Amino acid sequence: MAPIQSEKHIWFSEVEVRELISTFLLAQGLNQPQVDSMANMLTAAQRDGSLSHGLQRLPGTLDTMAHPRFNKQADPQVQNITPVLTRVDAHHGFSCLAAERGMSSLISSARDFGVGLLAVNNGFHSTALWPLVEQAANSGVAAMSMNPTHNWVVPSGGRSALLGTNPIAFAWPRPNSRPYVFDFATSAAARADIAMARNKQQQIPDDWGLDRNGQATTDPAEVLAGSMLPFGAHKGSAISTMIELLAGPMIGDRSSYQSKQFDADADAAPCHGELFIAFSPELTGGPDALHEAEAIFNGFTDQGARLPGNRRYQARDTSARMGIPVSVALMNRIRSLIP
Ligand code: NDP
Repeated sequence: MAPIQSEKHIWFSEVEVRELISTFLLAQGLNQPQVDSMANMLTAAQRDGSLSHGLQRLPGTLDTMAHPRFNKQADPQVQNITPVLTRVDAHHGFSCLAAERGMSSLISSARDFGVGLLAVNNGFHSTALWPLVEQAANSGVAAMSMNPTHNWVVPSGGRSALLGTNPIAFAWPRPNSRPYVFDFATSAAARADIAMARNKQQQIPDDWGLDRNGQATTDPAEVLAGSMLPFGAHKGSAISTMIELLAGPMIGDRSSYQSKQFDADADAAPCHGELFIAFSPELTGGPDALHEAEAIFNGFTDQGARLPGNRRYQARDTSARMGIPVSVALMNRIRSLIP
């Protein structure tokens, strides 16, 4: 079936989006396991309308793969360090393959012992975090993940960038619904959203970042050249610091300022660790834990409040019916970069 097309968008099947990603990355010499893993992540994001981490990420992978330490042939292996601690070294390839390979061990630890930890080390760019915590919740365990990035963010009350945009994601299994999932950067906005605003020549809110002189600005280009702000002032700053600690020194990996040093002006995606923690609500809270939790979610929906994750699930359903929309401009750009 020929893709549906409008002036600005083309709608593709999931298979076609995966094929596009695979063709692009295989042409760069990336090995098949990493290609498949990146295709999983970017396709899921595009399908769910999480556009900042969908196909628009593909052109930027060229800079990342050009980093002198990037390993196109990385083949990460799972190490079971203790019954509850799994480690997977990404060996300086894309992070998501190492994370995917560690998931079943993480989930088994949580099911058998109540808690599991998965440390992913030395991976370039973890992409969006929600796909893997959602996968864990679909297997019946609650899960969190987090990672440092580059030091783009000024700590609350400070003047120079120290913290990363440090995303955190959480998913909770629901007996008769798709999991409760949230996933966001701890900066006031994700860097990709600021870059998208710059590309579209749009202004941004004045509490997203500072210019090179430390002054608030609505110009996204100035923020990208200057520094970003955490969400929620000292509260976001503290949560971001926790992520630096837990997914940095605690798992023997780089903090955001070390990731930036490692980049050495290559303009690659950050290279760092990622921590996953999974819990079994039924082991720690008893067999009714998941049913008890439903009262909290019902408390949202009963008053018309939206649960995080629901916009994505709706986008996913629409994509299943209509196809996955991709902007014509982005599609042309990606095709022009395939040798
Ligand atoms: P947003 O500020 O867009 O927030 C996204 C989260 O909040 C989603 O879970 C979303 O649910 C939920 N949400 C949004 N609006 C509402 C609302 N009105 N009511 C209830 N819930 C709501 O996220 P960011 O821009 O900060 O991050 C976007 C992505 O960027 C994430 O996937 C993150 O992992 C990724 N990222 C990755 C980094 C990395 O190093 N790999 C670095 C920084 C960000 P829903 O999805 O249903 O809309």
